[in-house]
Amino acid sequence: ASKRAGAGRHHWYSADLDDQAGDEGRLIDDLRTALDTGQLRVAYQPIVTLPDGALVAVEALIRWHHPERGPISPAVFIPLAEQTGIIHEVGAWVLRTACAQAGAWRASSVDVAPRRVSVNVSARQLADPGFAELVASVLTETGLFPYELVVEVTETAVFGGGQAVRTVKRLHELGVRIALDDFGTGHSSLGLLQTVPVDILKVDKSFVDHITTEGRQAVIASALIQVSQGLGLEAVAEGVETADQADELYRLGYRLAQGYLFGRPVEADEVLPARGSLR
Ligand code: C2E
Ligand code: MG
Ligand code: MG
Ligand code: MG
Repeated sequence: ASKRAGAGRHHWYSADLDDQAGDEGRLIDDLRTALDTGQLRVAYQPIVTLPDGALVAVEALIRWHHPERGPISPAVFIPLAEQTGIIHEVGAWVLRTACAQAGAWRASSVDVAPRRVSVNVSARQLADPGFAELVASVLTETGLFPYELVVEVTETAVFGGGQAVRTVKRLHELGVRIALDDFGTGHSSLGLLQTVPVDILKVDKSFVDHITTEGRQAVIASALIQVSQGLGLEAVAEGVETADQADELYRLGYRLAQGYLFGRPVEADEVLPARGSLR
């Protein structure tokens, strides 16, 4: 129970921790049921070009509507799923669903359909020596080309080297694009660029939030886009909420962005009409 129990580390009363552990145990049981009974969904959030806001890709984000508790954030249940190992099943389900959807968009031959789908993959999935082959077989099943799939990994997940890095290298050899998620917030962000094959930097929202009012953030965001350009990588600015932020990012050199300004995560059939232009 590391992540959430960590937040309660300073509680003196073990009863609190017991309650929390019981609560997490129930949630995990419920998640197993959710997987079997179709309570899980995948939402898709647009990734657009700057400055025109054209849809080029989507990020797949898992959604769970709990029958009694209502929507539960992946920030809450994904860490639990990781600790218990159920992430392997949940993650494989997200991967299949997202790849099948991307294949359907391509087959629809709508010219504004997203050309790529990004899927978040957790540390524990990357540590599985069979994961790259799972991806390969899902691509075959769904008829998706490897370059139409982006696997988003966090710096923390690949920091330790070992199997996680071998998995990323194997995926990259298959032609799958690799994105470093929440870039700049993890361990050894720049160092990892030397050891892990990376195609895309997803510059964390925390470098975007105050970009128009805090000079230091603009300096960092500028440095990160220069690193990405110098290394021939794509950079996606995450968490863009205002037109002023988008303008500033464009001025700094960003050509790809994601955030509520352009569209929230929505059901697959809402992606195309939901897309908006800046103009
Ligand atoms: P992430 O991969 O960094 O995804 C971006 C998160 O930021 C999403 O939260 C998205 O809804 C939110 N977001 C996007 N634009 C904005 C914005 O303009 N403002 C604000 N305030 N938020 C924005 P979400 O969907 O709650 O997911 C949270 C995290 O849970 C994700 O962060 C990712 O780490 C994890 N996650 C989600 N789906 C999956 C999954 O299928 N597998 C795994 N392993 N992790 C997942
Ligand atoms: Mg992500
Ligand atoms: Mg992210
Ligand atoms: Mg983030």
